[in-house]
Amino acid sequence: MSTYLKIKNLTKRYGSLTAVDDLSFEIKKGNIYGILGPNGSGKSTTLGMVLNVINPTSGNFEWFEGKTTTQEALKKIGAIIEHPNFYPYMTAVQNLELVCKIKGISTSNIEEKLAIVNLSDRKNSKFKTYSLGMKQRLAIASALLNNPKVLILDEPTNGLDPQGIHQIREIILKIAQQGTTILLASHLLYEVEKICSHVIILNKGKKIYEGSVKAMSSNYGYLELGVMEQQEKLINFLKNHDYFGEIEIKNKHEITVMLTQEVESATINKLLFKENIILSHLVKQNSSLEKNFLEITQNFKN
Ligand code: ADP
Ligand code: MG
Repeated sequence: MSTYLKIKNLTKRYGSLTAVDDLSFEIKKGNIYGILGPNGSGKSTTLGMVLNVINPTSGNFEWFEGKTTTQEALKKIGAIIEHPNFYPYMTAVQNLELVCKIKGISTSNIEEKLAIVNLSDRKNSKFKTYSLGMKQRLAIASALLNNPKVLILDEPTNGLDPQGIHQIREIILKIAQQGTTILLASHLLYEVEKICSHVIILNKGKKIYEGSVKAMSSNYGYLELGVMEQQEKLINFLKNHDYFGEIEIKNKHEITVMLTQEVESATINKLLFKENIILSHLVKQNSSLEKNFLEITQNFKN
């Protein structure tokens, strides 16, 4: 599988603030990558560097295995990193024609790209009559005009209503299905979970997780356990058994404990019963990306 983008030890400092900190990852052909992280974690700065609009402090990146210059490579990339900017009194078609003229590319793709973003029926309306969602979709059409190999989107659904958000997601998936590799930045976990195949999680500019979204969502889950008394005894038992990982005490009666292997609730109930620990509550939760994401970002706060 060919590597489209390779980032190595990329770092960006603004004075004493390190916005992107020794970041390395790779983007391979055909996948949908999400850069996920809270606000200020360095997502936009990372995208800015690989698009050559922000100069790295150190480290480097390489597009398309270094076979072309960055300048040439950027012609094969479509990107939306700012709010869409079009002429309000011109129609969608006229705006896209202008984009083609500026970029020196053929106008023959315009109709096809407007169809992909579901704007064919409004193609002759003036830009100023568009909703925010339509404006964003027009921006996507514009970024697709040169048939890019990679489409880069920064917070593509920001500010949109639920229907607008849904439309953008469907369109991104459709574009990916047609073979375009996608790199999107988002602070929304469920957005990345819904759209992406791979995720790079950033916190304070540092990569804290990289992998497939599937692998991250599927671990062994955790248990919510309740006891009337005997909490100390329960905790001691859990600490000394290798089914169990980290323990979180919620209150005098309730705890949660991470599972370190596949195990049934019934097995656990039996195990504890043998120890004379009587549970008032036992629920097994399958760990979600959300819990992982919160834990990961929590652990890296200081
Ligand atoms: P994100 O896109 O994840 O919200 P950014 O990449 O925009 O994060 O910002 C990362 C950090 O760098 C933030 O702390 C932000 O305030 C800081 N930052 C971004 N751009 C600049 C700049 N031009 N000058 C100074 N600090 C900046
Ligand atoms: Mg940003």
